[in-house]
Amino acid sequence: MPTSYRVIPVFMPMLACPHRCVYCNQYVISGQQKLPDIHEVVELIERNLSTMPSDAHKRVAFFGGSFTCLPEPVQNRYLDAVQPYLKEGRIEGIQLSTRPDYIDDHILQNLKNKGVTLVELGAQSLDDDILARSGRGHTVADVENASRLIRQHGIDLGLQMMIGLPGDTKAKALRTAEQIVAFGATYTRIYPTLVVDGTSLADDYRNGKYVPLSLEEAVDWCKGLYRCFQANRVTVLRLGLHPTTDLRGGEHLLAGPFHVSFKELVLTALWHDRIAEQIAREGREEVTVLVPPGEMNYAVGYGSANRKAFPKVTYQK
Ligand code: SF4
Repeated sequence: MPTSYRVIPVFMPMLACPHRCVYCNQYVISGQQKLPDIHEVVELIERNLSTMPSDAHKRVAFFGGSFTCLPEPVQNRYLDAVQPYLKEGRIEGIQLSTRPDYIDDHILQNLKNKGVTLVELGAQSLDDDILARSGRGHTVADVENASRLIRQHGIDLGLQMMIGLPGDTKAKALRTAEQIVAFGATYTRIYPTLVVDGTSLADDYRNGKYVPLSLEEAVDWCKGLYRCFQANRVTVLRLGLHPTTDLRGGEHLLAGPFHVSFKELVLTALWHDRIAEQIAREGREEVTVLVPPGEMNYAVGYGSANRKAFPKVTYQK
């Protein structure tokens, strides 16, 4: 049994993608503007391997762009760079993210032959009106078909979703989460929609046609989604965007519920509800809350929020 799971992330910018979703400026989101050279990928793998425990389960992950939009020979150059590591057993698998309308039997067979074990699709919403208003260029049916094909090829399925896209509501976001479960995803990621400079969403925001979620709304929506995924054993790999230097600096970020510790805020809020329910159940404020391993920070809360909200509570590991 591996003691831990580690991912070596390789960021692929939007150069591969012929689309332009209303919110997307991948140059900013990935913090990088050109496809990486193969030797850079190899260097990155070596650098990461040198710092990872030898008994960890390791995967190379091609994130950020739309991998299967690349011409097949280009896809294969990247996948082939990982093959020696797979053969030597230094890396156990490859994962990648792509669009649901760039998946078919031929593409999947090639990925499977090259050791890809997980494909994450940017579903974003499973509501056709929201997809159209977001310029996604694919439908819910495309996500459903691609999901089925991926599972038929014996590859793990991840479905990423966004909240707060044009036309989205809390109920529609929850419906998307329920469909992600129904489509057979093993993994998900939840990203709040941010308004980034250089996108058409930024124009709509400036014209008052788009209003992003507040941070409080985003946390509140995500609580319900997280509960849904937990109840259905779908692993939430990420809550909130990775805080690149550009996003942290706010230079390109115009508006939206960005927080460097977004996940902590959501899990703090979930623990807040749980503690409040226990207090109501026991009919007193001096309760002892049992906290599973790895959850103490969330139970106590981001910035000790829950400790401050419930000062008489004892937290027990
Ligand atoms: S599919 Fe992905 S990379 Fe392409 S425009 Fe949309 S968000 Fe950007």
